[in-house]
Amino acid sequence: MSKIPVGILGATGMVGQQYLYLLLNHPWFEVTYLAASPRSAGQKYRDAVAGRVHFPGILEAAGDLIVADASDMDAAASAQKAGTLNFVFSAVELGDKEATKKLEEAYAAAGIPVLSNDSAHRWTPDVPVLIAEVNHGHTGIIPLQQKARGWDRGFIAVKPNCSIQSYTTPLYALIQRGFQIKQLIVSTLQAVSGAGYPGVPSLDMIDNIVPYIGGEEEKSEEEPLKILGSIQDGRIANAQGIKIAAHCNRVPLTDGHTACVSVLFGDKKPTIEEVKEIWGSFKSLPQELELPMAPLRPIIIREENNRPQPRRDRDADKAMAVTVGRIRPCPVFDLRFVGLSHNTVRGAAGGGILNAELLHRQGYIK
Ligand code: NAP
Repeated sequence: MSKIPVGILGATGMVGQQYLYLLLNHPWFEVTYLAASPRSAGQKYRDAVAGRVHFPGILEAAGDLIVADASDMDAAASAQKAGTLNFVFSAVELGDKEATKKLEEAYAAAGIPVLSNDSAHRWTPDVPVLIAEVNHGHTGIIPLQQKARGWDRGFIAVKPNCSIQSYTTPLYALIQRGFQIKQLIVSTLQAVSGAGYPGVPSLDMIDNIVPYIGGEEEKSEEEPLKILGSIQDGRIANAQGIKIAAHCNRVPLTDGHTACVSVLFGDKKPTIEEVKEIWGSFKSLPQELELPMAPLRPIIIREENNRPQPRRDRDADKAMAVTVGRIRPCPVFDLRFVGLSHNTVRGAAGGGILNAELLHRQGYIK
């Protein structure tokens, strides 16, 4: 089988490079199109990223590709016509959400599906925010999105903020087994790579913690509600009855976002043993899909009382698993635990690739 040609918008950035790295030798997808800002456009990729290469092997694979301007729709349409561009991963940072929305819509309207990392479309009611193991059924909104907008082959699907995977998947596993979640208090400890490159100034980060990340607490509180919601009347309606309070902190780590979580359940409350059984046995994607990026165990439990730790656990199962530990009763709510996931893999490029694999198996990406 010949591989499906894919493009990366924002290919020179931190997340764009992570996509390129994770797609080296991918069995289904081959990166054939790279785009970034007008500053990089027209240059060979190796020249455009000189002095800011974050991953090994990406120049050997793509160094000679000429970078396109991400807003040059003629170039994208020509590549599509030539059979060298079937869909794109969007990892641009335009600094303007309306401009990002329009750019992604232009690709979708041109018949090029967009899988975005940006937050611009996360609150567009007919755009699914996907964590493949949690809400793979939300891809059912895509035909409705296409019909409403008159798009033929193109569509937009996005992945959530990098801070929420470490608790949303464990919560979903409990909800799926009939436990209603009423309230949640989450304190995150987020690595600096979440801010892109060069990111937070080193003098703000070394020997320090910054108790504020712009916009992050709102995303951490609201995005899980859309992901746990359902398709109703051509839009995704938020899950009702769950209240989340988040404290988001930037900490001096390279990779790995940790969340310390307290959960209040409805009338039916699981025992600690039940929680461990549910998380330890959680599998949600049908095995027969055989998605290459899917972790074998989406939730890994560590029993040691000093785990999970970012340096030791963030790379678990291709850096795609959520590692949980410190599972214990909460004297104020019902349950406490610590969740950890890799922010630029599970929380960014790896999660985006897993979504693309799912959409390919479902026939939306060809
Ligand atoms: P980054 O390192 O700053 O990279 C930004 C990219 O956007 C570069 O390729 C840049 O191209 C391109 N760009 C900037 N201005 C542009 C323009 N006017 N037109 C076209 N392209 C333009 O940012 P990042 O950390 O990779 O983040 C990329 C996106 O992913 C953001 O929306 C971010 O919120 C999201 N995200 C990041 C993470 C994470 O962990 N870092 C996690 C989840 C989601 P040039 O090199 O040519 O300037």
